Amino acid sequence: MPDKTDGIDHQLTALLNRIRAAEERCGRAPDSVELLAVSKRHPVAAIRAAYAAGQTAFGENYLQEAVEKQDLLRDLPLTWHFIGAVQSNKTRDAAARFDWIHTVDRPKIARRLGEQRPESLPPLNICIQVNVSGETQKAGCAPEEAGAIANTVAEQPRLRLRGLMTIPAPSDDFAAQRQPFARLRELFDELVAAGHSLDTLSMGMTADLEAAVAEGATVVRIGTALFGPRNPA
Ligand SMILES: *Cc1c(COP(=O)(O)O)cnc(C)c1O
Repeated sequence: MPDKTDGIDHQLTALLNRIRAAEERCGRAPDSVELLAVSKRHPVAAIRAAYAAGQTAFGENYLQEAVEKQDLLRDLPLTWHFIGAVQSNKTRDAAARFDWIHTVDRPKIARRLGEQRPESLPPLNICIQVNVSGETQKAGCAPEEAGAIANTVAEQPRLRLRGLMTIPAPSDDFAAQRQPFARLRELFDELVAAGHSLDTLSMGMTADLEAAVAEGATVVRIGTALFGPRNPA
């Protein structure tokens, strides 16, 4: 029986080509967009197959699942990004086990991560998650709260503020998909103008990566187009 991980090298090549084509269409430099492979609810064998094909950055949404996988993959030099909801009573593993957290949306979470990031590790890279599509989803701060959270992150010596992240409401229409990404980019520019040095716009998933690249994404978070459909939770 064919293994589920058999096609991952081909899917990775196809996905990287898709990202390169999107860069080219909007006049962006080749390789200006980084692929974060979202491996939630995919087995460690799938991560190993993607690593063998050249992928090193992986995103996980559930802490318990992530920690179990990390323990099984200690032999590989992977970069781990947390992209799920951070609960304030579970910040310790998030602070110790990841290289990046994309989903900081409250000052309290930023302070806890900063206090709990081990001294033995480099500063934890942080993106602030912003809810730019309004009431359609709950995670993420309001755009007008991002400045205060950015200041809190910047005050923490064990954290390094890198940029902004969003998960917009789904849409099939390219122009409509671009709007929330454009809003996130404007907010990014406002924070830079306010003195923050940022380099990361984490936006775009399987269904809307072209719109995100057109609006300046530096990291696209892709699961389905690389690994196929996810296992049920
Ligand atoms: C699951 C998930 C992704 C990947 O979604 P796909 O549509 O499978 O590419 C990206 N970002 C976040 C925050 C996710 O939870």
